[in-house]
Amino acid sequence: MLSKQLHEALNAQINAELWSAYLYLSMSMDAEAKGLKGVANWFYVQFQEEQDHARILMNYILSRDEKVTLLPIEEVRTEWASPLEMFQDTLTHEKKVTAMINNLAAIAAEDKDFASSNMLVWFVDEQVEEEESARGMITACEAVEGNKFGLYMLDKELAARVYTQAAPLASAND
Ligand code: MG
Repeated sequence: MLSKQLHEALNAQINAELWSAYLYLSMSMDAEAKGLKGVANWFYVQFQEEQDHARILMNYILSRDEKVTLLPIEEVRTEWASPLEMFQDTLTHEKKVTAMINNLAAIAAEDKDFASSNMLVWFVDEQVEEEESARGMITACEAVEGNKFGLYMLDKELAARVYTQAAPLASAND
């Protein structure tokens, strides 16, 4: 059985992951409207990954015989001045998500809920990757700042990003 505190925090995390999905979808739409198809693709893949994160948590709550409560999704920003600004926002947001995941891990540890602790290990590792990838994109955008050809090449590179289902969902399909 999940503790009430952990159950509520997991439901709140589902909402945060879906809000993240919505944020990245909004960035994708803004980039596409500005002709940056590669940047749009990168954020669309991100949008898909965030939905996976929510699904993993929903599956987990259900597997513990508890109820998933879907909360309202707050509105998101709809316009950014540049891809650099999008990736800066991404890093700021992912740092907040990392803090939320760490808080979940702390509650699970306090509860001595080892199953939840194990489930959260994937998210702890994922957040390290999310922050690293956002930092990498900021560096890339800074490198091409003010250079239209550089941005064109970077956009081409980002067009190659492909969505792959998150490992915990892929293994659940076995
Ligand atoms: Mg996420």
